[in-house]
Amino acid sequence: MNRNKREKEFYSLDVGDSTFTVLKRYQNLRPIGSGAQGIVCSAYDHNLERNVAIKKLSRPFQNQTHAKRAYRELVLMKCVNHKNIIGLLNVFTPQKTLEEFQDVYIVMELMDANLCQVIQMELDHERLSYLLYQMLCGIKHLHAAGIIHRDLKPSNIVVKSDCTLKILDFGLARTAATGLLMTPYVVTRYYRAPEVILGMGYQANVDVWSIGCIMAEMVRGSVLFPGTDHIDQWNKVIEQLGTPSQEFLMKLNQSVRTYVENRPRYAGFTFEKLFPDVLFPADSEHNKLKASQARDLLSKMLVIDASKRISVSEALQHPYINVWYDPTEVEAPPPLITDKQLDEREHTVEEWKDLIYMEVQDWEERTKNGVIRGQPASLGAAVSSSSQQYPSVSSSSVNDVSTNPTLASDTDSSLETASNTDPLGCCR
Ligand code: AMP
Repeated sequence: MNRNKREKEFYSLDVGDSTFTVLKRYQNLRPIGSGAQGIVCSAYDHNLERNVAIKKLSRPFQNQTHAKRAYRELVLMKCVNHKNIIGLLNVFTPQKTLEEFQDVYIVMELMDANLCQVIQMELDHERLSYLLYQMLCGIKHLHAAGIIHRDLKPSNIVVKSDCTLKILDFGLARTAATGLLMTPYVVTRYYRAPEVILGMGYQANVDVWSIGCIMAEMVRGSVLFPGTDHIDQWNKVIEQLGTPSQEFLMKLNQSVRTYVENRPRYAGFTFEKLFPDVLFPADSEHNKLKASQARDLLSKMLVIDASKRISVSEALQHPYINVWYDPTEVEAPPPLITDKQLDEREHTVEEWKDLIYMEVQDWEERTKNGVIRGQPASLGAAVSSSSQQYPSVSSSSVNDVSTNPTLASDTDSSLETASNTDPLGCCR
């Protein structure tokens, strides 16, 4: 496309400290969140005639960490298509050549709030179990593609008021070092499993721990293991769950084991003490049963030794969760990941710049030719999901056709209110 024509397609506006330069089809930009990679805005897409979310990645190739994450996210978002993983609608850069290349804009389905805002709400068993079911479905789908997340947290999970839920990111690359003896970068570690904190080998149920921590927080209304740094994170775990057995300690490498053995010994608390009845709605026999099922699930997910922790498939079969079981959601065919060396890649800044630019161009080519994941581009790759199967808040209350819970009623739009009043300040 010639330079002038391309220039005319974009316009710029200031959002906080940043300038967004976006295609003119996206109007009415408003900041809705920010993460490690930059600011996220909501916008109206005049082509798709729907609201979308736009994330700006500023110079994503500037260092190894940013570049690997941005590249991995682009590649995986293009491949994965599941109702509980955020869907990609568009990718573009306003710059015209590789030499000028600076920023990438990722356009996604727009959701109402992240899970940090939902944690503040009083959830009944129906909503709680439905949200957990969807987290497990999304994670199972990633596992089926060989992606183990390892860094699931409430700020990277988004929901709509119809109680649908999507995971926003793909977690840590297999090669990412995370252990106790690492430099303490400022990142949220509250939800990281013991095997990640302690730098041990891990398997897929590493993500069950994080879902357990998130469930606990939804029940308690506060973070379960609020470690002040990466070392304190371990203290918080053992203070509540107790010092793990000798059998577990033998699996640690020598220097980590020495550290762990030198901590004071804790007996820990029973799950009845950690999650007493008062934390759950217990006004009916049904609710009492559900509370004990919820506690049972927590006690099977929050197990320090991964070899004794429940698996994702077992969690999906647990009585608290399996009421929602739908094989089309749980057993959806796994996505094929095109780049087999995704996690192993090590490149210079210039090489990353080249690779990321190529990914953006590849998307532009594919959409130009009208095909994304075998669908016509005009429909958008991810238009598939929830809205078709899960009636919106208003339609469900009118038609009453849904057996799925919602997060807000017509009169109670607490989710939208939460995201509007605190666009950038939620948990990280
Ligand atoms: P991220 O940069 O992906 O970590 O996102 C930062 C924050 O922006 C999240 O915690 C959400 O609050 C918000 N956000 C990101 N993507 C979306 C989306 N597709 N829909 C709604 N909110 C989003």
